[in-house]
Amino acid sequence: MNDAQKSPIVRRKSTLLYVGKVPVGGDSPITVQSMTNTNTNDVGATVSQINALEKAGADIVRVSVPTMDAAEAFRKIKEQVEVPLIADIHFDYRIALQVAKYGADCLRINPGNIGNEARIRSVVDCARDKNIPIRIGINGGSLEKDIQEKYGEPTPEALLESAMRHVDILDRLNFDMFKISVKASDVLKSLRIRSRGINFIACPTCSRQEFDVIKTVNELEQRLEDITLPMDVSIIGCVVNGPGEALVSTLGVAGGHNKSSFYEGGVRQKERFDNDKIIDQLENKIRARVAMMNEK
Ligand code: SF4
Repeated sequence: MNDAQKSPIVRRKSTLLYVGKVPVGGDSPITVQSMTNTNTNDVGATVSQINALEKAGADIVRVSVPTMDAAEAFRKIKEQVEVPLIADIHFDYRIALQVAKYGADCLRINPGNIGNEARIRSVVDCARDKNIPIRIGINGGSLEKDIQEKYGEPTPEALLESAMRHVDILDRLNFDMFKISVKASDVLKSLRIRSRGINFIACPTCSRQEFDVIKTVNELEQRLEDITLPMDVSIIGCVVNGPGEALVSTLGVAGGHNKSSFYEGGVRQKERFDNDKIIDQLENKIRARVAMMNEK
């Protein structure tokens, strides 16, 4: 095929920014980012996983930093790895300021979730001073309550509205070094391409997971191969995205400390699952639900 026959590459124009030395956006090559799922406080395990990810081709690695202790661990991790690190923070602006001091190459924090104006401004000013970008992360499983109620489920319009809330804040503060990630667990579901058997919706896992999500899904997929009735079951490692995904699933679990919340039809049930028995307990619930559907 000669050059004239090749399809032109269509690329949306975006602002070039840098995560460490890695260029993102503009005309730069597409980069690969992954995330650790070790406990961030376990510095040795997290460093090993970051190095393994880099070896496998990751250009950037995201590490969740849920507590101030984890911020201290992040400092040690950062000293031992080469690949640029994004610190993934929810809500607590003090953690964002701390990891920025410890050399984070990018902050994943949604400005709309930081709190009052002074807190937002302190994080944005810190990112500006240190010349590090902010990553806005929108996830269908953790949309704002009012947006969830307005749209009923994580439609593209809902995801866009959520993202723009955060973008507008950064625009207002005249900060343009940000990138946006918008994720929905099951885009292809919306196309109704496949509707047979259990459709497991799982989070990608990170250090916040309260039980082993991947093992749980793998085991349940094997155990429930015989089921042909279509059903969505969300298996989410923590409360960040668990309740939101459960809202649009027949059954769902959201990881909690030692025990995880169980949802039916989007409604949280009184019964909770022991994290070390979650596979058996969820299998029982799924089979009971299938039996009920078959009776109808
Ligand atoms: Fe991590 Fe999963 Fe919780 Fe997201 S939902 S923060 S990937 S454990």
